[in-house]
Amino acid sequence: MNITFLGTSSGVPTLTRNVSSLALKLSQKAEVWLFDCGEGTQHQLIKSTIKSSQIRKIFITHMHGDHIYGLPGLLATLGLSGNSKGIDIYGPSNLKNFISSALKNSYCKISYPLKFFEVENSAQTNTNLFEDELMEVRCASLKHRLPAFGYRVNEKDKPGQFNLEKAKKLNIPEGPIYGRLHSGQRVKLEDGRILNGSDFCGETKKGESFVYCTDTIFSERAVELSKNVDLLVHESTFSEKDEEMAFEKLHSTTTMAAKTALLSNAKKLVLTHISPRYTPKSVVKPIDLLNEAKQIFPNTFLAKDFLTTKIR
Ligand SMILES: [Zn+2]
Ligand SMILES: [Zn+2]
Repeated sequence: MNITFLGTSSGVPTLTRNVSSLALKLSQKAEVWLFDCGEGTQHQLIKSTIKSSQIRKIFITHMHGDHIYGLPGLLATLGLSGNSKGIDIYGPSNLKNFISSALKNSYCKISYPLKFFEVENSAQTNTNLFEDELMEVRCASLKHRLPAFGYRVNEKDKPGQFNLEKAKKLNIPEGPIYGRLHSGQRVKLEDGRILNGSDFCGETKKGESFVYCTDTIFSERAVELSKNVDLLVHESTFSEKDEEMAFEKLHSTTTMAAKTALLSNAKKLVLTHISPRYTPKSVVKPIDLLNEAKQIFPNTFLAKDFLTTKIR
């Protein structure tokens, strides 16, 4: 799996950074999941290599405008283009009202199935928000000025390589049976033999995992959500030098983001949601933010719009 940053600025867009959005491209099916949808996200999608028609799920962290103002426009465009198979939206309980009202008052009828899923209960009970045969998604409450949620996507472990030679030696008829054995199923052949898929597969390949935490100040729940994750994308609105502002606005500093990665034993950290106050010409520069975090968690990277990076 890989992710592409579509917006990496906090609060307002700048010439080089749009407001929050990130696309996760699944590896096992032609599907894209979007995380947050700040204003202008559909323009960013056009400029990227992501196909909007592949978006099936949209996860919204919280109701601040820089994370949701692009959603009505994107949903309307997907309807006009006519090639959406349906979208499931996950977010705070008041999100449905916001979207329904925007669409209704602009006389926009969505032609594809649009479903809303409230995330509060899943965060409270620590249960899966979504699960199918390939993936599972969890969420957790973060610490921000209004209810905000972090998301974790776990790809399920994949069966190892299929032992074709062994299957042929045992005269197992070629075809769909091979696929069922490879996925670990128990199969009964026409001649009565019962086979276990696990006997035909190599070592299981550990699934990849991804966490998206924004907006939040340092939070134990974010640490818990990110335990042993392959890739943690964490907000880092402020430099360590502007810690006071982070406490005032309930955002993270570079140090808080790096501490979350370190305490959770994450493998890789990418900082996003960067305050527009930091530019290559300001006293504290974006590169300084990266270096601050690297002192605590060396495997840190700084997000920029259109950066694509593998989960593992
Ligand atoms: Zn924000
Ligand atoms: Zn916010």
